[in-house]
Amino acid sequence: MSQPVSPGREFLDSVHYYFDQAAQHSKLHPGIISQIKICNSVYKVNFPVEVDGQIQVFEGIRAQHSQHKLPTKGGIRYSMHVDEDEVVALATLMTFKCAVVDVPFGGAKGGVKINPRTSSVETLERVTRRFASELIKKNLIGPAVDVPAPDYGTGSREMAWIADTYHTFKFGETNALGCVTGKPVGQGGIRGRNEATGLGIFFGLREALHDEAVLKPLGLSSGVAGKRIIIQGIGNVGYHAGKFLQQDGALIIGVAEREGGLFNPDGLDIDSIFLYRKENSTFEGYPDGKFIPNSAEMLEYECDVLLPAALENVIHLDNAERIQAKIIAEGANGPITQEAERILHARGVVILPDLYLNAGGVTVSYFEWLKNLSNVRFGRMGKRAEEASLKRLVSTIEKTTGKTLTAEEKLLIIHGADERDLV
Ligand code: GLU
Repeated sequence: MSQPVSPGREFLDSVHYYFDQAAQHSKLHPGIISQIKICNSVYKVNFPVEVDGQIQVFEGIRAQHSQHKLPTKGGIRYSMHVDEDEVVALATLMTFKCAVVDVPFGGAKGGVKINPRTSSVETLERVTRRFASELIKKNLIGPAVDVPAPDYGTGSREMAWIADTYHTFKFGETNALGCVTGKPVGQGGIRGRNEATGLGIFFGLREALHDEAVLKPLGLSSGVAGKRIIIQGIGNVGYHAGKFLQQDGALIIGVAEREGGLFNPDGLDIDSIFLYRKENSTFEGYPDGKFIPNSAEMLEYECDVLLPAALENVIHLDNAERIQAKIIAEGANGPITQEAERILHARGVVILPDLYLNAGGVTVSYFEWLKNLSNVRFGRMGKRAEEASLKRLVSTIEKTTGKTLTAEEKLLIIHGADERDLV
């Protein structure tokens, strides 16, 4: 009897399938192609942590897909679904994502099998510090080696714990703060990193919504204003993308989360639903929208843009035929399986790929890392040095999109960063 394919394996197969498709257009020697495809190293570790007086064993993984450029770079996720294939697939995507935006890192990714929502802050801190220690022990983290960042289930708090643990073990090491990015601004982070992925998604989507070649076959009018958008996942990425889209006049008609979704054809206010859920742990009871207990079905609702911003493989063989969105903006890494993509392409749905669309996070991580390496303390130097680094973000966006940003957009990036830490 054949073994059922694990979600992680299905994801990795998809990533390899896309790689093979792209490789057909390359003139590189097949041996070099194989080396680019394969994951260079995977480290798996089981470590004990005391939880409520009992010893519990946790599994942590760090994959460094390509050490061709160093350091390697990519987030650490906390989820019960973490497995080796998933982490390798995500590390592989990081290599290509960094290449697309010309950020000089190899790809990496990590994960710990833990439920961040049901774990206490104390447990999360112990697990994070212990996992960081395991990586330090094996020389798998460091400003010149491998630099983690936030991902699904982690944020600036976890990054601060990692930086502090690293600093403790490597006391006196120059540039130690550059061992991790996505830190709080007061602890070596950089203004704008928190919203960077969402802002990048906004810019990428907005470009598509002004491109006649994209819009005409879909029968869509030009511009963000009035576009009906459904977001899956209102974590750091989904929230910020939604916020920038709403500011530009889009209607966020639906938001899907694990425990249920919210729907309102006239538009939901992203800030108030975000705060409501933070206070109530659910959208249920929110006055200005219909609560949808089975949020998975919201992916199939009629809308102009569907923005999956949580996990991989959420659009698959079983729901692809029923997706009614005209554009799917890949905010998450790998949200569409290869079979689903074939179906969606055949139906004329436009897919904006993750490698490009969600690369804003790692781009700003690069500037944070540069800031840490040069030991620049922006607070002391005033805002000017920080602005210089955010101006480099502007030129990265312009280079990648091939478009010149307007003065207003540049101001939004350079001065409009939101200090609120929502993680
Ligand atoms: N986890 C994010 C991603 O998937 C950020 C990675 C980083 O900043 O290194 O792109």
